[in-house]
Amino acid sequence: MGVYSTINPATGETLATFEEISDAELQQMLARSADAYRSWRGTGLAERKAILTRVAEIHRARAEDLASLLTLEMGKPIAQARGEVDLSAAIYQYYADHVEEFMADEQLEISGPGTAVVRTEPIGPLVGVMPWNFPYYQVARFAAPNIALGNTVIIKHARNCPQSALAIEKVLTEAGLPEGVYQNAFISSQQVADAIADDRVQGVSLTGSEKAGAAVAEVAGRNLKKCVLELGGSDPVIVLQDADLDAAAQAAAGNRLFNAGQACTASKRFLAHSSIYDAFVEKLVAHMSAFEPADPTSADARMGPLSSAGAAKEIDELVGAAVAGGAQVLLEGGKVDGEGAYYRPTLLGGVTPEMNLYREEVFGPAGVVYRFETIDEAIEVANDSPYGLAASVFTEDMEQAQYVAEALETGMVWINGTSKSSPDLPFGGVKKSGFGRELSHFGFNEFANKKLVRNP
Ligand code: NAP
Repeated sequence: MGVYSTINPATGETLATFEEISDAELQQMLARSADAYRSWRGTGLAERKAILTRVAEIHRARAEDLASLLTLEMGKPIAQARGEVDLSAAIYQYYADHVEEFMADEQLEISGPGTAVVRTEPIGPLVGVMPWNFPYYQVARFAAPNIALGNTVIIKHARNCPQSALAIEKVLTEAGLPEGVYQNAFISSQQVADAIADDRVQGVSLTGSEKAGAAVAEVAGRNLKKCVLELGGSDPVIVLQDADLDAAAQAAAGNRLFNAGQACTASKRFLAHSSIYDAFVEKLVAHMSAFEPADPTSADARMGPLSSAGAAKEIDELVGAAVAGGAQVLLEGGKVDGEGAYYRPTLLGGVTPEMNLYREEVFGPAGVVYRFETIDEAIEVANDSPYGLAASVFTEDMEQAQYVAEALETGMVWINGTSKSSPDLPFGGVKKSGFGRELSHFGFNEFANKKLVRNP
């Protein structure tokens, strides 16, 4: 059986390991989930609201301990880890505050006699497969709305953040959630497939890579289970000639290097009009250079190590191949010698479609700049990606901003800003970035039975 391990990416040291559970234990977990669903779905909204509020309160009360675990397991700078705990608390609180509104019946206006009402009801036990890059926040996006709705969840977290996974389960249990409503499962990919195929399970949500998404969607499809996929991105930032270049460069650098560049909605491709290209690159290089990799436990660290030595190697190979193929180095970064998965910010230009870097998601602190002459050319390059998660456009001209926003093949567009998640904003993508939405009422309704009750 495989293991889940805490390996401190700042030192490479293995600190704890956890065995995967057996198939028999998984069966017991599925049974508990199904049992819990039968009673949880009938729980009053006031009780669900109170429990979710307590979940938010416990996050805030234990912020320091929870944040430290993120720093330990995946190298997130402690200040950003505190921010993640805070955002997760806000998500649980948001669904506590809105559960009554989101569960309310909808009276339809109909042409015939009588009444037609759409009720919002849960559908049953669900499986959530989660990545390591935002261990608490990703779980909150899935668990909070579904627990509020009356579904039960089994979470398979990434195998490099087991202590964070256990910490979430503990918070939810201590908040008073009945046994079986939320369960953490240290399971293999095969056991994930077995759980999805199980008749008791009604749906699955995965946040992660395209490869994992395709594997899970295949099993879900074969078993006719609803699935939501939040996958990778290669978000473009389009800088028009009239943009505030300082603001654009600062936002672009910040969003590229936040979480050491390991975010699906990190800005990964920078497209600048030729008339301001040099000035923009100069400012971008200056802002990116200010992110020196540092010990993530230190209060002023802006960037820690990558999540693992393997992640640093992967990005190094992607960048190295592009440079060997003729890409221009605008900011020389690369792996830092010594222990720890540290990688300096890197910026490349002259990347062509023949290079893997053109199409692949760069999951680390390296960016690529492109030059364009017309807005339509910028849109074409921005859309020439398998992904369609988020995008940004910087300009003072709101008409042009709206034109670009409409033409971009993405699930989210930001005008004069870069992606920032909030409980009340829907989150999700198109193309190979996945399908479905999380957060806001859109996320609440993904695993809801919108039941029509017609009384003629
Ligand atoms: P990953 O390798 O796909 O892992 C994500 C989760 O999927 C982990 O729990 C992993 O388990 C599991 N998994 C992998 N293969 C599986 C399979 N065949 N069947 C079932 N589960 C499987 O991704 P990652 O490296 O952790 O995360 C980075 C990726 O996530 C990036 O592409 C990023 O853009 C994407 N992401 C997307 C969003 C979004 O909202 N769109 C948000 C954050 C991250 P193991 O750990 O056991 O392999």
